[in-house]
Amino acid sequence: MTEHGAAPVSGSPSGRRVYLDHNASSPLRPAAREAMIAAFEVAGNPSSVHAHGRAARALMEKARAEIAAVAGADPRGIVFTSGATEAIALALNPEVELAGRAKSCGVLLASAVEHPAVMKGHCFPSRYAIAVDVDGDGRIDLAALDASLKRHTAGGRRAMVALQLANNETGVVQPILEAARLARTYDGVVFCDAVQGAGRLALDLIAPHVDFMAVSAHKLGGPQGIGALIATHPDSRVPPLVPGGGQERGRRGGTENVAAIAGFGAAVSAARAVRAAEQMRIKELRDQFEREVLLRIPGVRVIAAKADRLANTSLIAFQGVRAETLVIALDLANLSVSAGAACSSGKVGASHVLAAMAVEPEWAGGAIRFSLGWSSTREDMEFAVDTLQRVVPQVRSRSTRAA
Ligand code: PLP
Repeated sequence: MTEHGAAPVSGSPSGRRVYLDHNASSPLRPAAREAMIAAFEVAGNPSSVHAHGRAARALMEKARAEIAAVAGADPRGIVFTSGATEAIALALNPEVELAGRAKSCGVLLASAVEHPAVMKGHCFPSRYAIAVDVDGDGRIDLAALDASLKRHTAGGRRAMVALQLANNETGVVQPILEAARLARTYDGVVFCDAVQGAGRLALDLIAPHVDFMAVSAHKLGGPQGIGALIATHPDSRVPPLVPGGGQERGRRGGTENVAAIAGFGAAVSAARAVRAAEQMRIKELRDQFEREVLLRIPGVRVIAAKADRLANTSLIAFQGVRAETLVIALDLANLSVSAGAACSSGKVGASHVLAAMAVEPEWAGGAIRFSLGWSSTREDMEFAVDTLQRVVPQVRSRSTRAA
């Protein structure tokens, strides 16, 4: 991404700046911006019965219908939240109802590579939030899931299985349909963190097989601070975290963020309209980028290169550098990327994802995530390769001198 959506950054007054961090947050799509600006003109509270309130509600219900259409769900199953973290916290509750029937879950089984929002288990006591092993590519080990289901449901307990659609660090796509089928054979409840897959993969093919999905607007070109929990049956529900005034059919209290919701709906529709072509274009850019990096820079490895991955994500490990140092050096060279996960306030630590995949520490410590998106261009990728070819040897020689 050149300039698009990126505020001028100190240290790069006029130079080109390239953004390859769409998995952290993707810039606002023009359609989302327009929808939000139009929504700001609507004054009403969507719960008010008068004309202003009805106008606000109409915007919100339009967005709800747009999101439902993409997710292959009933609009009544969609609960707007402040983002996916909240949607996940809402879903990870032992007391759920599926299609109007109470289904208590005594244990949460989540893959070892879930986002921290899932790994924390939320309302499940920590001893009943169990991590399930993944293989070397970070895909859930279905035999291990089967064994965990068998073991933890033996005493009559029901399990909730939480599995992401795609990983935020590696882009690896999970065998969600197979895992869901397995969970069903144990009468389990299935939750899918679809944050990184939404806008990139077909959610409507997954929805019939899972009970709940979490999505976030800002990963697909909508605004930050808005997301949704999607119940794939309109009468499935979880107890509200915030009962408040009974908004969202009693599932999440508080006046809804109408402008953000309008932007979310517009972003989802815009992404849907171009999804196949956009993903194909991005994949070509990503694959060419990886080829060039491998050709021009020694001591480099693409993590999970052979696995089924999102088209936009490339996690590349650079031998002999610390990822944090390289991210800073690349930032100074006007390239915005992340060291592994970048969800929490600039915090960098060992990646639990790469540890679960048993990636050797000397490679894991130098892993940089390049994530492309709707605004990425061929020029951006050429800039990124040229910058890496210049900066990586500099960082390597500095770390050798310091050692
Ligand atoms: N799940 C995954 C896979 C993510 O990548 C993220 C954010 O990076 C989240 C959940 C949390 O999303 P939000 O920023 O909307 O809270």
